[in-house]
Amino acid sequence: MTQKSVHTLDRGCRIIATIGPKSNAFTLLAAGATAFRVNFSHGSHEAHLERIKAIRAAEERAGRFVPIIADLQGPKIRVGTFETETIDLKFNQEVILEVGTEPGKEGLIRLPHPEILQVIQPGDELKLDDGMMVLTVTEKESNTRVKARVDVPGKLSSKKGVNVPTRQLPISAMTEKDRKDLTFALENGVDIVALSFVQTAADVAEAREIIGNKAFILSKIEKPLALEHIDEIVALSDMIMVARGDLGVELPTEDVPAAQRLIVQACRRAGKPVVIATQMLQSMIDSPTPTRAEASDVATAVYMGVDAVMLSAESAVGSHPESAVAMMDRIIRAVEKDPTYWEDLYNNRKQPIATIANALCASARDIARIISAKAIFAFTRSGSSAIATSRERSRTPLYGLTPDVGTARKLALVWGVSPVLTPDMDDSDQMLEWAKSFAQQQLGGKQGEHALVLAGTPFGISGTTNVLKILSL
Ligand code: ATP
Ligand code: MG
Ligand code: MG
Repeated sequence: MTQKSVHTLDRGCRIIATIGPKSNAFTLLAAGATAFRVNFSHGSHEAHLERIKAIRAAEERAGRFVPIIADLQGPKIRVGTFETETIDLKFNQEVILEVGTEPGKEGLIRLPHPEILQVIQPGDELKLDDGMMVLTVTEKESNTRVKARVDVPGKLSSKKGVNVPTRQLPISAMTEKDRKDLTFALENGVDIVALSFVQTAADVAEAREIIGNKAFILSKIEKPLALEHIDEIVALSDMIMVARGDLGVELPTEDVPAAQRLIVQACRRAGKPVVIATQMLQSMIDSPTPTRAEASDVATAVYMGVDAVMLSAESAVGSHPESAVAMMDRIIRAVEKDPTYWEDLYNNRKQPIATIANALCASARDIARIISAKAIFAFTRSGSSAIATSRERSRTPLYGLTPDVGTARKLALVWGVSPVLTPDMDDSDQMLEWAKSFAQQQLGGKQGEHALVLAGTPFGISGTTNVLKILSL
């Protein structure tokens, strides 16, 4: 890919849009989306490949780096398809659940996978579509067929999730389908792989064996058990998502806000990028404007200092995908204009993990602030020094300079980092020269102004940031 024009996003928090039948990657980018999520729970490889190609074409046209997230389904049970678009689940109605792949109909839900019906017992609650509808099992006719009563009614459409919070299902963290989807995703150059239902650090380690450094690993936190292991999971992951859809089914709704804070704080401490997802602007699936409460939810996430907020059905199947992205963009900008946002980020800052790289990146924030530096330049191969600098939530523009297109794309999703592709450089004089002319020519840097440069020697080895240089322009 050619050198992207310098794109200094004038906001720190990023926007991820889930791509689906209703989304156009180019217009979503124009509305302010930063990254796209391809959800492997829905659609064929053929359809995903079309989407990936469309995103890459839109990326080229927009002239900026666009990360693609492949979201693996994980061990999630979903209902099958229906003869009609939706079926009605009426209050107190009796419905049959049966294992099978044929389409279901009114009063009959088919499950393509047998696991749930095997373990379920009368009295168990089944939560459908992230808990929007609830059934209670009344009679188990066999291991493949049960009767249930509708306690919380609604309209059910194909492939919606089914959870049984009271039972543990005998399925491993990465299913056969996930492995196939992962191979496909890596072959087609996705930048980030999202792992669903991570419960322990071992789940992340297992995926890392396959993924290596071909992609970042984003662990989705949506199981209560993961909360108990959050620090170990954060340590082994590159990024984290607060996946409130399933989290809110597995936990009582009232416990989700505290879980969100716990996860975000663990990530901010460790300096790992964190995303808040699900139902952020839910009413915009149908309505051109969000509720005040939704706007406030997005703003709350931004005030907490998260790296990105995400749209799911709003951008994938909603009626107003661009408006939803534009709304998020405006909310983020409004928060980032508020002086209390910056004061809170500064006052609540935490000491980073004690490494030389982290110490330098943290000092860069303070030095840049005191001398009103024009920019901070982090030369980085893996992205780690730009991420460590981003952790400090500096108001000084931060550039992640890298010779690696994949790293540039990943950095686009990190709070406040503007990725820039550089030639391969192998000595520090060359880097300083490059940074200086970039600051002068692209950023309008004037004589008497300063910029900070973070780099590592020896070159070419990632995670070795050990030089902080103050550059006079
Ligand atoms: P997850 O648990 O991974 O979040 P989900 O089923 O909740 O899965 P989302 O990506 O959050 O899926 O999107 C919300 C809804 O939007 C889905 O339930 C589905 O109905 C619809 N959707 C999303 N992506 C697609 C797609 N590519 N094709 C069809 N429908 C989609
Ligand atoms: Mg979802
Ligand atoms: Mg989920």
